Amino acid sequence: MNRYWSSVVHTLTPYVPGEQPKQTDLIKLNTNENPYPPSPRALRAMAAEATDTLRLYPDPNAERLKQAIADLHGLTPGQVFVGNGSDEVLAHTFLALLKHESPLLFPDISYSFYPVYCGLYAIAFKQVPLTERFEIDPADYRVANGGIIFPNPNAPTGRLLPLTAIETILNDNPQSVVVVDEAYIDFGGESAIALVARYPNLLVIQTLSKSRSLAGLRVGFAVGNAELIEALERVKNSFNSYPLDRFAISGAVAAIEDREYFEQTCNRIIRSRQRLSQRLLELGFQVLPSAANFLFVRHPGRDAAELSRLLREQSIIVRHFRLPRIEQFLRITIGTEVQGDQLCQALEQILG
Ligand code: PMP
Repeated sequence: MNRYWSSVVHTLTPYVPGEQPKQTDLIKLNTNENPYPPSPRALRAMAAEATDTLRLYPDPNAERLKQAIADLHGLTPGQVFVGNGSDEVLAHTFLALLKHESPLLFPDISYSFYPVYCGLYAIAFKQVPLTERFEIDPADYRVANGGIIFPNPNAPTGRLLPLTAIETILNDNPQSVVVVDEAYIDFGGESAIALVARYPNLLVIQTLSKSRSLAGLRVGFAVGNAELIEALERVKNSFNSYPLDRFAISGAVAAIEDREYFEQTCNRIIRSRQRLSQRLLELGFQVLPSAANFLFVRHPGRDAAELSRLLREQSIIVRHFRLPRIEQFLRITIGTEVQGDQLCQALEQILG
């Protein structure tokens, strides 16, 4: 409590991101970063930006980046919005498209930033329970609402919703904007971007933080009908004209253009996920099917918080959420093959 704070600040419950430890020798499997470096082309493009042109503001509309994203997905730049990480794109989306009289719907187990944005922008929301098997059932979204948002694959479960189910939600809710947060889609899912041309109420959000190894650069984007994008631009241009700096624009363009490197690294992670999943099953874990760069697992015989603490003692950090329904689960990021081996060795020792 502080007398200088606005009344809004008193009501906020901020999001708490996963730990970024100062210690560099940890095996860091807690924030779904990519274990492989960014595309060498992206690194070269960013190095080339370190010149006297940094005197000048970047392009406020990041046209080159919008064009690169549009080219990748067969869209026009007017169907693309870019921002400082998908978190910022999400924030603008909540204010621009999801704040209405009826409550916004999202799954009870989902990205824990969503209720935080609702708090920031005073948006009414209702959490829709996932099924027993931690799946989204489209039938549960056939209720009055002011918008719908969910990650696909869902986080932190990793479960994928097929496009046919997303179409059911879109068809059932033509009066609402349906936002699909595809932070992890490149690790085995089919993007709903393919549906954008047919559904004016669909907004798809992606990030370069995961599949393009650029979490440190902060670039995310949204694609959808030009009128939805216009709403985001209005909010963005009432907030910050230059959310993407010169490094971010150039690095992101090069990373998107380097499709071969992108496919290689994604495929490597998918292979490591299959391998790790198999080994965790052998160690007695229950492993939810994952289409993401992480696994969501529980051990029937061991407390998740304790497992997390014991792994930490062996310099391995994973994510544990002290939340209803999932407090016995651990979310483990897919690292390199070597990191996967080290994790399994540590678990073998812990489980005896
Ligand atoms: N959506 C989901 C579901 C996420 O897990 C994350 C990563 N925490 C984000 C969005 C945000 O990612 P970024 O801001 O790095 O693009």
